[in-house]
Amino acid sequence: MKKILVLEDEANIRSFVVINLRRSGYEPIEAETGAMALEKLKVNPDICLALLDVMLPDIDGFEVCRRIRASGSKMGIIMLTAKSQEIDKVTGLMTGADDYVTKPFSPAELTARVDALIRRLGVDEDERSTAEISSGPFVLNTRNRTLEKNGQRLKLTQIEYLLMKLFMENPGKALSREEILTAVWGGDFSGELKTVDVNIRRLRIKIESDATEPEYLTTVWGYGYKWGY
Ligand code: CA
Repeated sequence: MKKILVLEDEANIRSFVVINLRRSGYEPIEAETGAMALEKLKVNPDICLALLDVMLPDIDGFEVCRRIRASGSKMGIIMLTAKSQEIDKVTGLMTGADDYVTKPFSPAELTARVDALIRRLGVDEDERSTAEISSGPFVLNTRNRTLEKNGQRLKLTQIEYLLMKLFMENPGKALSREEILTAVWGGDFSGELKTVDVNIRRLRIKIESDATEPEYLTTVWGYGYKWGY
């Protein structure tokens, strides 16, 4: 369950928010003061989104937001603002907030904003994640599922591509044939371990200068295979 920090000093608003987040399948982490919020963030590094009230008894919500961003966190932040507060200040994003909701808000409005931001963060995460894995002369592109050696595109089958991805993601690690079979062909594949050997042999012909003396995809005798040289 995704953890969401709820920083709100007014108990009735806080419990209203908490109940509605729970109903939507989130795990709310409550905080009454700015200091408590920062403490909860430290203890729960997996919080993915924070709802921050602005007017608090100690430091204000903008300051909490600034400190979250100063720590390098890219978590989603939604400010809970009162109508009287300057929206300019909030939308100016000087503090690094992603969105704001004006009080009073309906449960549907709040959860819609939370869901939307979580989705956006998820998409950004995928786009940011590296699409290329490099190892020696090889570059594997996980977006268009291609492999290059010294800048030359090698033609791989989908199985060979998955094998390359598995090895390049685990450099230097001896992978057993069972592990390889499960990772590439799937857990419910009732194939033989020989299938692994057959495909590795074919893959070596494509990627190695001399498939009989593999330099990159080496054999770990009696166990499996390893990427590394
Ligand atoms: Ca308040």
